[in-house]
Parts: sequence; structure tokens; C-alpha cells
Amino acid sequence: MRILIQMLMLSMLIACTEANKNNQNTGFLDDIGGGIYVHHGEHLDIDTGYQGDICNMSVVVGAKGVAVIDTGGSLKVGTQLREAIAKVTKLPILYVINTHVHPDHIFGNSAFIVDKPQFVGHAKLGKAMQLREEAYARLNKKYLGEDAKGSDIVVPTLEVAEPLVLDLGDRQLTVTPYATAHTNTDITVIDSKTQTLFTGDLLFIERTPVIEGDIKGLIATLDTLKTYPVKQVVPGHGTQTKNWVNAIENAQRYLNVLLTDIRASIESDIDLEQTMDTAAASEKDKWLLFDIANRRNVNTLYPALEWE
Ligand SMILES: [Zn+2]
Repeated sequence: MRILIQMLMLSMLIACTEANKNNQNTGFLDDIGGGIYVHHGEHLDIDTGYQGDICNMSVVVGAKGVAVIDTGGSLKVGTQLREAIAKVTKLPILYVINTHVHPDHIFGNSAFIVDKPQFVGHAKLGKAMQLREEAYARLNKKYLGEDAKGSDIVVPTLEVAEPLVLDLGDRQLTVTPYATAHTNTDITVIDSKTQTLFTGDLLFIERTPVIEGDIKGLIATLDTLKTYPVKQVVPGHGTQTKNWVNAIENAQRYLNVLLTDIRASIESDIDLEQTMDTAAASEKDKWLLFDIANRRNVNTLYPALEWE
């Protein structure tokens, strides 16, 4: 049965990869309606095979200009995004928003410097980018090779400490910062025209959620997102959905199982290494890239939860 399910997951993964290949053929951006375009990155880890194009990048076109939400993991990917936007609209790019500090979401920023937009991010994003600059440069060089060149840190010019509204003319984007959850730099964006919520990596769909910040904070933040009066959600990774409450509850189920299992391990003196193999095992067949992401989550969370 396990093998059958794994084969099924593998064929799903291949189907996703095929869909992404088709995207390349039909254009970099998918038109999801209402003046919103999304590029869906491939479900790959930041590990061997990482090519800088694994997250969702979104484009919101208003009457006055354009907002970009996340720019991909390299100058090359950011440039592809910018060229694809130029095929959709000639309006100026007013805002480039980063949902958080992770390298797969921010290193396309440099492609947009020429547009002189406001670079928008969490109040803690600039500092977090600078703290990680060297480590991320090494990581990009290791995995991206030539594509790492010119993929530079671009810090926010507009830092968000309280919810704020960006005006695109006929539509407004509300940018909301959060306490530590997926990272310590998470924001969401809500588009007034379509009631679309862009979650960044507060929500993963299809692939295993990742926690670098605070698992309890993330579960609580997802509770907050569930109260928003929105019609559709674009996650940080995975397909946009109108069945978004269900998607959030799937992520919360995984996070709660993971938290419970790690706490039980600590209680029973089961060490970190063994817990990496056993925690949240009941979720294994429900998510892509489970083994690598789940092990990493345990590795991050176990030491912090030992001090609860
Ligand atoms: Zn992330």
C-alpha cells in the first residue's frame, strides 16, 4: 500500500512538473482572472537541482500601475518575470513586495531596480536580509552557479510595521505584518478588487509546510487568516484555491501533529535523530517533498521545544 501511495505521489509530482513545463510553453504567467497573474514555481527543495524558480510570484495590475508579489530566487528568474509582465501591461511597476526573507522569494528583486518601484516588506525584513546576505550568497553560488551573478540583496524602501494600504488606482492592496510564524518577516497582501489573499509561505499547498520561525505562532497566524473575508488564496507554494479554509486546515493539521509528536518525543527522552524519522509520520503520504522538509522542521523545532 505504501509503495502504491508513493507511486501515486510520484506521478502527481511528475504531473506538476509537466504542468510547469507547459507553463513555460504557454507563457511564464498564468492569468487567474481579475487582473491577477501568477507564476507557479516548481516543487523543488533548495538542494541539489534548485534552479531559483520554486515559489509563486504574483502580479496585480491596477489602473495606475502594477504590484509584484515575490520575485523568485535569482536575477534570471526576476528578469523572466519582468519580461512576462511587459507582455501583459505597459503600466509602470509601482510596488515590489516581498512576503518574507527566504531566498527563493527575494533574489529576483534586482531585476526591478530599473523600474524604481517601492520595495515593500516587513519592518524586520531589511535587517534579516542583511544578516543572511553572506550565507545566501554562498547558497546561491553553490546551487545556481552562473545564475547567482547579479542576484543581489535589495532591501525594502517601504517597511511595514502596521497594516498599510497601497493604491493601484482602481484597487488597493492591504499589506499586513505578523509576529514570528513561518519566519520573523512574514506579511500577507489582500487585493480589494478580487478579495484575493496572498499568504507567502504562511501557507503551503501540495508541498510540505516549512517552519523556520515559531510553530505555535504559525498555527495562531493561520487561525487569524481564516477570519479574513476573502474569496481566494494564492499560497507561497502550490496552486491558488477558492477552497482556502480547507487548505489552511490541512496545513494546521500537519503542524499540530508535528508539534504533538515532537513534544511526546521530548517527554519520552527520544532523541532528535530518531524523532526526525518518526514525528508526523501519519502525514507522510499527504504532502510532496515530505521527508526532507519534515526532517528539517524537526531539526529546527525540537531544540526550541525542549525549553518549553
Ligand atoms: Zn519561505
